Amino acid sequence: MIALDDLAGRVGGRLLRAGDPGWEEAIGIWNGMAATTPALVLQPGSAADVAAGVGFARDHGLPLGVKGGGHHIAGTAIAEGGLVLDLSGRRTVAVDPEARVAHVGPGCRLADVDRATQAHGLATPLGFVSEVGVAGLTLGGGLGYLTRRFGWTVDNLLEAEVVGADGRVRVAGPDRHPDLFWALRGGGGNFGVVTRLSLRLHPVGPDVYGGLIAWPFERAAEVLAAYRELTAAAPRELAVWQLLLPAPPAPFVPAEWHGRRLCGMAVCYSGDLDDTERVLAPIRALGEPLVDLLGRRPYTEVQSYLDDTEPSGRHYYWKTEFLAGLDDELLAGLRELFAACPIPEADLGLLHLGGALNERAGDDGAVGNRDARYVVGVKGMWSPGEPAADRFRKWVRDAGTRLRPFSTGATYVNFQTADEGDGRVRATYGANYERLVEVKRRYDPGNLFRGNRNIRP
Ligand SMILES: Cc1cc2nc3c(=O)[nH]c(=O)nc-3n(C[C@H](O)[C@H](O)[C@H](O)COP(=O)(O)OP(=O)(O)OC[C@H]3O[C@@H](n4cnc5c(N)ncnc54)[C@H](O)[C@@H]3O)c2cc1C
Repeated sequence: MIALDDLAGRVGGRLLRAGDPGWEEAIGIWNGMAATTPALVLQPGSAADVAAGVGFARDHGLPLGVKGGGHHIAGTAIAEGGLVLDLSGRRTVAVDPEARVAHVGPGCRLADVDRATQAHGLATPLGFVSEVGVAGLTLGGGLGYLTRRFGWTVDNLLEAEVVGADGRVRVAGPDRHPDLFWALRGGGGNFGVVTRLSLRLHPVGPDVYGGLIAWPFERAAEVLAAYRELTAAAPRELAVWQLLLPAPPAPFVPAEWHGRRLCGMAVCYSGDLDDTERVLAPIRALGEPLVDLLGRRPYTEVQSYLDDTEPSGRHYYWKTEFLAGLDDELLAGLRELFAACPIPEADLGLLHLGGALNERAGDDGAVGNRDARYVVGVKGMWSPGEPAADRFRKWVRDAGTRLRPFSTGATYVNFQTADEGDGRVRATYGANYERLVEVKRRYDPGNLFRGNRNIRP
C-alpha cells in the first residue's frame, strides 16, 4: 500500500483499482473471449508517468500490460493480476502538412489519424477497422488498403518516442538508436512503451472509389477466379478484400437474403477516379451482384466501412496465414470450408497485399514477410455464453490447419491468437528473429515487456 501511495504521488495520470469509476472501460478490450483482470491500471498523462509505471512494475515484479486501442485478438494488452498502462485516452494527432508527417499519440485509433490527415488530403497506410489502435497495429507491421502503394505502416514510420525497461525515454529513428528503431518496425511491444509515433504521409483522396459488392455464394467459384485474375494485374492503387460471409441483416441486403451465404469484395481504389471503370472491369464483368455499394466516397468512409461487422465485446477466434499466391486447390478449399461451416457468424477472407510491401529487402525493418502477397483468414464470432463455443473454436482451428499447407510459413504477429506457440513467432520473423533477440537483450534483458508475441532475450 505504501508503495502504491508512492506511485500515486509521483504520477500526474490516474491510478485505478477495481470498483473505481472508469475501471471497466480501462480494462475493456475488443475480444470478450480474451478478457482478463489486472490488479491496477495507470492512465499516464505523460512519458514521465509511463516511466514511473514501468519502474513500479519492474521493481515489484508485477506483470506489465500496455493498452493502446485494446484490439489484439489475444487480449495481450491486459496483464492478469498485474499493472496495465492504459494509453487509450492519449488520442492527439498533430499533422505537419508541409513536411507530410503525423505525430500520433499512443492511444489513437485509426479513425483519429485518418480524420486528422485527410483534412489535408493526406494519409498513411493503416488497417480496415477504424477503432483499432494505431500503436499496436504499427508495432506489429500494419497493413491495409494503402499497403500496396506505400508498404507496411512501419515502412512509413519516421521516428518513435519510447520508454524503455530501464525507464529512460528515447527517441528512436534511422540515425538515433537505429537498432531499437529497426526492432520497433515490426517487433511488436517487446522493446518499450511507445509514447509517440511519427508517420510519413502521402496524398490520398480525399475521395476514393470503394465499398462493398457481393454475389450469392453459389457463384463463389467464378467470383474467386475473377478475384485471382483481378489481383494478378491490379494497379497498386487498387486493394480488394475477398470475403465469404453471411449476409448481414442490413437495409442494403434484400430481406430474403439476410443470414444467407454471400461471396463479396471490399474495394478501395485510390488512383485516378477517371480510370475506375477500366480498373474494376473484371469485377463488373461478373455481372448481377446481389449487393452493389461501390461508389465514389471519402477515404475516411471506406476506412470505417467494415466497423459494424466486428463489434467490441463479442467472442472472436481466428486463424490466418500469409500466402505467396492463390492456387486452385486453395480456392476450392475455401469454398468447401465455408459451405460446411457450422458457425452462423463466420467468414473466410483473402486480403491482397503485394506491391510496395514486396519491394524492400527482407531485413528492412523487423517485420519481414516481404514475400507475402495475400493474407488468408478464417474467423468465427459468437456471443458470450454460446453453448457451442468449444465446437466453434475447434472448427476454426481445424480450418486453420487445412489452410496451413498453402502458407509462406508465417502468420502476421498482429493476428496471432493466444494459442499460437513461440514457434510461430520465430517462423514469422524468420531470418530477423536472432537480430530481434539481440536487441531485446540490449533493451529489455529481464523481459519486462512479455505480454505480447514475445521475443525471449
Ligand atoms: C477487428 C480488427 C481488425 C483488424 N484489422 C487490422 C488491419 O486491417 N490491419 C492490421 O495491420 N491489423 C489489423 N488488426 C490487428 C491489429 O493490428 C492488432 O490487433 C493490434 O495489436 C491492435 O493494436 P491495439 O493498440 O488496438 O491493441 P492493444 O490490444 O491495445 O495492444 C496490442 C499489443 O500491442 C502492444 N502495444 C499497444 N500499444 C503500445 C504502445 N503504445 N507501446 C508499446 N506497445 C504497445 C502491446 O504489446 C499490446 O499487448 C485488426 C484487429 C482487429 C481486432
